[in-house]
Amino acid sequence: MDRIFEKVKIIDLSATIDNASIELQPVKIKYISHKKGAFLLGLSVLFQKKFPFKDLFLYLFGIKRITAKDFPDGLGLAWEDINIGTHIGTHLDSPWHFGPASEGRPAKTIDQIPLEWCYADGVVLDIRDKKQKELITLKDIQDALQRIKYSIKKNDIVLIMTGASQYAQNKEYLRSYPGISREAVFWLIKQGVKIIGTDTWGFDRPFENMIKDYLRTKDKNHLWPAHLVGREKEYCHIEKLVNLDKLPPYGFKVAVFPIKLKGTSAAWVRAVAIINLR
Ligand SMILES: [Zn+2]
Repeated sequence: MDRIFEKVKIIDLSATIDNASIELQPVKIKYISHKKGAFLLGLSVLFQKKFPFKDLFLYLFGIKRITAKDFPDGLGLAWEDINIGTHIGTHLDSPWHFGPASEGRPAKTIDQIPLEWCYADGVVLDIRDKKQKELITLKDIQDALQRIKYSIKKNDIVLIMTGASQYAQNKEYLRSYPGISREAVFWLIKQGVKIIGTDTWGFDRPFENMIKDYLRTKDKNHLWPAHLVGREKEYCHIEKLVNLDKLPPYGFKVAVFPIKLKGTSAAWVRAVAIINLR
């Protein structure tokens, strides 16, 4: 067991989720301001009793009322309501995303992912020379490992750097990136890897390329081949990582704990790399 690091540098590997995020589904964060918060909190005087008719009467006549004036500086508390999909922003896909069963057992949903998988040694594989929309082959993965002279260990979190995240503010981010091949995913899992991350919008090749190849050949292996490995071998992947170029090739920890959503196929993560400075 590692000792707690005494002096660390933490590198943020997560994209900011905001209303302008480039995604297929809209991101809706509704901001309740401090001013509006004062008004809404003030209304809580009406919800203290099961039958608030008397309180409503007293409120309307200003006898029992809390308004912005009753808060310091006229400001209450701020909060937000959000309406976003689980696959928005930097997120972890659980085996349930890939199918109802994995390795013959019910597939794990995000709240069932062992947290030990989510905190482990990280390794960055630089395959930025790969062209967009192409397949990242097993040879690409093995060559990248060879270049940094690293052998994957059980439970390593493998981060695949394609360079795509630099286009995250551009619509092209949705459809221009290389996808990971089925053989590469199988091989990584065989080495004992449970979580594979990528800086691309999707783990497989862009939708339009997979669909075009399927319609041309009617070969089902063109449809989400890397995702569907998860039905045969249990694993998770992280999509939409950023800042992978700020990491050393290895020698750091990765933490990617998912938000604990009941029964979902994915959840947002605050992915970080932790570098021990001592
Ligand atoms: Zn996803």
